[in-house]
Amino acid sequence: MTGCTRFAPTPSGYLHEGNAANFMLIARLARIEGLRIRLRIDDLDRSRFREAYLQDIFAVLNWMGLGWDEGPRDIDDFLRNYSQHHRLESYENLLSELRARGAVYACRCTRSARGSALSFCSSDCAVRGYSLDDPDRVWLCRVNPGFETVMNDFEGDPLTIRFSERGIGDFVVRRRRESTSNRRLPSYQLACVVDDVLDGTTLIVRGADLFDSSLRQLYLAHCLDLRSFTAVRFIHHELLLDPRQQKLSKSAGNSGGFESSLLKKWATAGALEAALPIHEWGRNLGLSP
Ligand SMILES: [Zn+2]
Repeated sequence: MTGCTRFAPTPSGYLHEGNAANFMLIARLARIEGLRIRLRIDDLDRSRFREAYLQDIFAVLNWMGLGWDEGPRDIDDFLRNYSQHHRLESYENLLSELRARGAVYACRCTRSARGSALSFCSSDCAVRGYSLDDPDRVWLCRVNPGFETVMNDFEGDPLTIRFSERGIGDFVVRRRRESTSNRRLPSYQLACVVDDVLDGTTLIVRGADLFDSSLRQLYLAHCLDLRSFTAVRFIHHELLLDPRQQKLSKSAGNSGGFESSLLKKWATAGALEAALPIHEWGRNLGLSP
């Protein structure tokens, strides 16, 4: 097999129909293209992490009959060998590289003081030269608003996107020190790029709400000359909405395993699949029925 795609759930709640649709589309594309599937679980953020959510990921994938070629087989295997917390050194290396290239600055602004949505920084930290070694400041990646990135679509056709048109400004690549552990973790954007490079990802399939995240990740790859990431193909599918036209959200739930899964209301995985827009999404991508 010549490429790799991934299931990349986050154990921050019980999976919903939107996650299931994402997995099914990925499985279909992998089958058509002969891609390997890696299961990657984004557990860097431990603030909403619960083992029950981790259990739910394995239970749902198994119930849906969706297999994967690489990655953890079960919870123990995950915690022992695949948690993102085992990759902190790799993340740290790329952060040092960004620092060496002058691509980051320390920002002392708090989330609540954020002015515009354009940049995390609501002040003039970019020109202040605050110490990057101060553990209570976040690191922001400096974005050139005139930057144009090329994103490859599913067909491999390049799409040119100007950052100013998307309103993308400086963004966090390293968080401030965690009060509980004293560690300074990388941001989701940074960890995601590192993981996809290490895992050899060639196709990323995610919801449209992550489109700007993809752009930020491409920007990081550009700053760091990560050619394998800038060559990745992207699919951003629409999001499933609830009857009030709101994006589905993961539920906090209470116990664990498939017994408390949000998807338990479906009698079978086939019934669930029939209710999801997988064929419509496939048609939009030019796949034959
Ligand atoms: Zn700032």
